[in-house]
Amino acid sequence: MNSLMLGKNSYYQRNREKILEQKRMYYANNVDKILTQRQEYYQSNTDKCKKKATKWRREHPEYRHEYHVAHKERQNILSHQYRLNHRKETKKMSREWRQNHIEGVKKYRLQYYQAHKIEALAECKAYRKIPIESMCESCGGTDGLERHHSVYSKPLIVTTLCRSCHKKVHVQKGNT
Ligand SMILES: [Zn+2]
Ligand SMILES: [Zn+2]
Repeated sequence: MNSLMLGKNSYYQRNREKILEQKRMYYANNVDKILTQRQEYYQSNTDKCKKKATKWRREHPEYRHEYHVAHKERQNILSHQYRLNHRKETKKMSREWRQNHIEGVKKYRLQYYQAHKIEALAECKAYRKIPIESMCESCGGTDGLERHHSVYSKPLIVTTLCRSCHKKVHVQKGNT
């Protein structure tokens, strides 16, 4: 649109509401057609569309965060699925990332260790001395079993929980 069309007294501005309403009506009446057309266009111009979207995202970094907030759950599910379907690639990528960021990883580990010293020591002690049970004490599951300390000051008192029950316990406790 050129500046003439967007001027204060332009046709568009004077009839803005009307035009928008017409557009909305048209969209509502033809939603199936429009979506099919868009899909067809996307399928025959996938590369072009993808490039355009990438370019747009690069030029509008401020929307990235908003988009993420608005689609958080969907994105989480999608990225989880992606990781499940691309296990090898994901592992390789994160290994490469760690290799390229060795100092950062070391620093992070050290910081984490210092901030969670008691927990880390308790986990270490329990790992050496307490054999893990064969099933989750909360749901009976047998996959991804972990030791959980309800009190870290008593390192030898542990509960065996599966990963998802363990997560839930810590969410309830308020420290993930
Ligand atoms: Zn469980
Ligand atoms: Zn725990």
